[in-house]
Amino acid sequence: MKKKMSLPMQILIALILGIVVGLVCYFAGLGDFTKNYLKPFGDIFVNLLKFIVVPVVLLSMIDGILSMDDMRKVGSVGIKTVAYFMVTTAIACVIGLVFANIFNGAGLFPTLNPEEAVYEASEFSGFMSVLVGIFPTNMWKSFTDANMLQVIVIALFFGGSIMAAGEKAKLARDIVSSFYAVIEKLMEFIISLAPIGVFTYMAWVVATQGSKILVTLLLVIVCAYLGYIVHAVVVYSLSAKIFAGMNPLQFFKGAFAAMIFAFTSTSSAATLPVSKECAHELGAEDDIASFVLPLGSTINMDGTAIYQCVATVFIASCAGMHLTIGQMIIVVVTATLASIGTAGVSGAGMIMLAMVLEALGIPVSYIGLIVAVDRIFDMGRTCLNVTGDIACSLCVTKWESKKRS
Ligand code: ASP
Repeated sequence: MKKKMSLPMQILIALILGIVVGLVCYFAGLGDFTKNYLKPFGDIFVNLLKFIVVPVVLLSMIDGILSMDDMRKVGSVGIKTVAYFMVTTAIACVIGLVFANIFNGAGLFPTLNPEEAVYEASEFSGFMSVLVGIFPTNMWKSFTDANMLQVIVIALFFGGSIMAAGEKAKLARDIVSSFYAVIEKLMEFIISLAPIGVFTYMAWVVATQGSKILVTLLLVIVCAYLGYIVHAVVVYSLSAKIFAGMNPLQFFKGAFAAMIFAFTSTSSAATLPVSKECAHELGAEDDIASFVLPLGSTINMDGTAIYQCVATVFIASCAGMHLTIGQMIIVVVTATLASIGTAGVSGAGMIMLAMVLEALGIPVSYIGLIVAVDRIFDMGRTCLNVTGDIACSLCVTKWESKKRS
């Protein structure tokens, strides 16, 4: 029997085909065709992923907690995970700022008139209300709104309580693991459709985003992508090598399917099923990956942090502002927090950029300067976000196994 082609290979071919078809359509003036007839298939695929993301996060986290079967292990995994996320995100901010300042200093950023930018940003309501908002008042509403931070809190509470209830909660345990098995099968099926999503989205992006604005902002985009690449090569390679004891090439090869999928779907949450598969293949322990990945897809956004730093420096320069060291420290802190608050869905990082700009006193409507090409930024930042989650799951697996031995 002929061996079936592996999923990463299928995704790679879909990506290349998508680029080729997109270029052909671009030059043939068929951008609308890709928008009207190809993109909808990508949308169907992303809808399917979105529809399972709440049960995946909920069940995966509860199942992960129950498999650890020890609240101390949950605590230790939780602390390591959050520490890894915070440190790598802060490094990402510094990398983003370094590149943005090099580009800005060399006069490579275009000067646009910010007064022409029109963008309606929603008011940022302050840190304390964000904190309060993490705790749900109505569980079902958290599910229907797909409010992932709240879903994580619900998972933590239920996981802990089922464990605390001991023998009496046996039925609840069995229900979780049984439903999780069902969801895993459904995920497998939906993931097998990934090449269709990658192909159709890629063709659409290539055929429709080649506009003038892209050329104007090209160097800002290049700056962000350099930051993404350096962060991936330095931080994740070192994480893989030093902490997870793995050859970086092997790491990127294993994470490839999730990276490409994130790149095209621009949603960490939607990529979750693929990241789980990759982390498993790379040797992450299942209970740890079940805990780390859903959390990461919600709060760990290194790519978003880099993007927010680059965008802030660019927008500030258009507004005639030159950021001082003190203001840059504010950018690092607010961009780290803003990236944590960014939902793992398409375009969320741009919405949270408002928080960073507000902290610096820059009008948030200036986000309008980059809104047209946000998807291009988003592709790279989501790819990085997801890679960071997988790297973390491997590092924590290693740290926990060292503790045991
Ligand atoms: N799209 C990104 C993600 O899902 C979030 C963002 O817009 O920065 O990871």
